[in-house]
Amino acid sequence: MTRVVRSVDELRDYVDWARRNRYSIGFVPTLGALHEGHLSLMRRSWDDNDLSVVSIYVNPLQFGPDEDLERYPRDLEGDLAKCESAHVDVVFAPTRATMLPPGSCTTVHVAGVTSDFEGALRPGHFDGVATVVARLLALAEPDRAYFGRKDYQQTVVIRRMVRDLGFRTEVVVCPTQRDADGLALSSRNAYLTPEDREQALLLPRALEAAEAAIAGGETDGDVLRDLMADAMESDREDVEVEYADLVHPDTLQPLPAIETRGVLLGALRVGATRLIDNRPVERPGTAAWEA
Ligand code: AMP
Repeated sequence: MTRVVRSVDELRDYVDWARRNRYSIGFVPTLGALHEGHLSLMRRSWDDNDLSVVSIYVNPLQFGPDEDLERYPRDLEGDLAKCESAHVDVVFAPTRATMLPPGSCTTVHVAGVTSDFEGALRPGHFDGVATVVARLLALAEPDRAYFGRKDYQQTVVIRRMVRDLGFRTEVVVCPTQRDADGLALSSRNAYLTPEDREQALLLPRALEAAEAAIAGGETDGDVLRDLMADAMESDREDVEVEYADLVHPDTLQPLPAIETRGVLLGALRVGATRLIDNRPVERPGTAAWEA
């Protein structure tokens, strides 16, 4: 039975009880509107830990002033049923005042890896993510926390933050879950019309084309960037390539060429909806790796 807790005290009581009983805790932070991507993290948490805690909180700090905070999909009842099906022990669903008590004046800023890509296009986004995830990790004290590779830059930011601030939590990054057509699952896919969705598929197809080129021996960064940008070209005026890059997996610095491993990062805007996706890649012959 999944239990819903709303206050810091209730969550801390639960965590204290788990600690006294030496139960390990897996933690999955989410914005809600749960789909198979989120559920895959919960299942992994269930496999790895004695107890699983999921947070559902639409974090206003990570939305820009012109973004979709107000219309972001919310479905707590549906989410709870999904958590139940994934054996989640506790759902932490705090109010805004619980997560951001009056007088809060601390921001967690991870420098460097936040300056490009999503960080450049969404000023303040990663400060909002890092600040709230830091608070959630401090409250839930999990042994392991689960994040999706779909938000690749976010995983790099969180790993750095956890290392720099000394949280005793292992960060576990799980594979991207996709629909049958290849589109990465995202709560924001609900905004797409069928025509938009056709356009959105340009993004995973461009990443796949670059991956195939690498498998065929292409190593040059600019050739791969051009290939992705060309593959994302659309005849619709409201479809725009925001970035298409080959970067180092840890620093996110653009790679002149792929020597061993890299990550293909892409972002496409379809109307008002932004889509992001990525693929870990390696030069043929390099030992297999997991991002
Ligand atoms: P969100 O609710 O969008 O903040 O996502 C919560 C967590 O689920 C983040 O760690 C995301 O990276 C992860 N996630 C979202 N979509 C997917 C997906 N398609 N596959 C795997 N993980 C995902």
